[in-house]
Amino acid sequence: MTANQQKNPKEKAKPFLFSEFCKGCGRCIEACPKNCIVIGQDINTFTGLIPIKISLENCIGCSLCVNACPEPYALAMSTEEMREREEREQSKNKGAGATFSDPSEMFGLDKSPLPKAKKAIDEEMNLPISGPQILKGNYASAIGAILSGCRHFYGYPITPSTEGAELMAKLMPQLDGIFFQAVSEVATVNIMYGTGGAGLPSMTFTSSPGFSLMVEGISYMIGSEIPGVFINIMRGGPGLGNIAPEQSDIKLVCNGLGHGNTHAVVLAPSTPQEMLDLTMKAFELSFKYRNPVIVVADGYLGQMTGKVILPKKLKKPAIPEWAVYGDKEHRANLMCSIYLTEKDLEDHNHYLDRKYDEIKKNEQMADLYKCDDAEVIIVACNTPAQMAKGSVADLRSKGVKAGLFRPMTLWPFPIDKFKTVLPRARHIVVVEANSSGQLEDELRLNLNRSQVTVHPPIHNVRRCGGILPSQQEITEKILSLKLKEV
Ligand code: SF4
Ligand code: SF4
Repeated sequence: MTANQQKNPKEKAKPFLFSEFCKGCGRCIEACPKNCIVIGQDINTFTGLIPIKISLENCIGCSLCVNACPEPYALAMSTEEMREREEREQSKNKGAGATFSDPSEMFGLDKSPLPKAKKAIDEEMNLPISGPQILKGNYASAIGAILSGCRHFYGYPITPSTEGAELMAKLMPQLDGIFFQAVSEVATVNIMYGTGGAGLPSMTFTSSPGFSLMVEGISYMIGSEIPGVFINIMRGGPGLGNIAPEQSDIKLVCNGLGHGNTHAVVLAPSTPQEMLDLTMKAFELSFKYRNPVIVVADGYLGQMTGKVILPKKLKKPAIPEWAVYGDKEHRANLMCSIYLTEKDLEDHNHYLDRKYDEIKKNEQMADLYKCDDAEVIIVACNTPAQMAKGSVADLRSKGVKAGLFRPMTLWPFPIDKFKTVLPRARHIVVVEANSSGQLEDELRLNLNRSQVTVHPPIHNVRRCGGILPSQQEITEKILSLKLKEV
């Protein structure tokens, strides 16, 4: 292209590249019908990325490349003024083609290199002192999210989790937040992917069938290291099952979060107070480890009303340095779960394994109730743990030294704490609301992985279909064990 041709006002506008804003994604290459664009060879020293190269010889000015580009400032159809600048650039920088070496000049921006994002420092603010609240579990969880700084809620209503979304629909607009009822659970998780990628806390409420639909997206979030909080108020399954409480997803959340090497911290509250506290904990851990966190509660707990004491502070989270936020500081960040070379993907999986090991080391949580001298250890979480606690009192009044081990993290399972109760235990009884022993499987798996091959016999009390094990059933089961013979 000659300078005269460039100055011809009738000539069609041609694309032109601001290389500092090009991430080398190649979408423009695919879009160009004239093969004018190729992958670049040179690293841009401002961004550390490799921008494309354009040759305008065969360009017909169709602007398909500009339309295909996801970056708002990377490609533009050139104006007369731009062309003149381009000429000056080309004479300064031979062989640069249509690429501008200094796009900041075009926009009148600061010419200094893109600044690195600073370490994020969250702010905390005092809350007005208030007395205890009486709240449903679902509401307590929604309030916990708001106090953690969550202002982006997406979801698709499903019983018995809907009150959480309902409260968010009321409160988010008043807090300058976003409430968005997505077209489906699949859409929900993918919007959370985008929001979490921008470094913003986001969450959803769902229930078992809805959660099943989200697991593919959760795998993408884990692969890309994107935070987000999922509150799964579990109900009876399989299939649509019913809307009554069950602990139907323990296996799914602990060991089945979509394809690949996927794990998320799984928190298991057992009171409305813990619905608030563990939802707040979920946001903290989700950003600490850049990973989704799942709070599992049964439908009874979602609907149950109880006393809830609010914390003294609320949080205003900063934008983390890794976020793809779209401002100057975060522009060079990139986030994806695709690693096309085998070695890169293997390295990424090993990196995730190291992160999982760190979570296992640091985040195991359990509540031990009267376990110090217990010979019968009941293992239970969520609402069944309340029945189990009542049973411990029953049994102790009958002279049986019983205690309750209540895992508050289901992944990682608090096996290190569990091992401390084993030396005195003569029986272990797992109490849960599903037919297949999903909590018991987690216990057995973790005993096995911790090389605990010798342990007391493991018994169980299980109900399902929306029926929770009763205190009486647990007590009767334990009294029926031949306690003296073991
Ligand atoms: S304007 Fe059309 S022909 Fe020219 S580089 Fe872009 S896509 Fe290719
Ligand atoms: S589509 Fe835009 S960001 Fe992607 S390579 Fe082309 S110019 Fe660069």
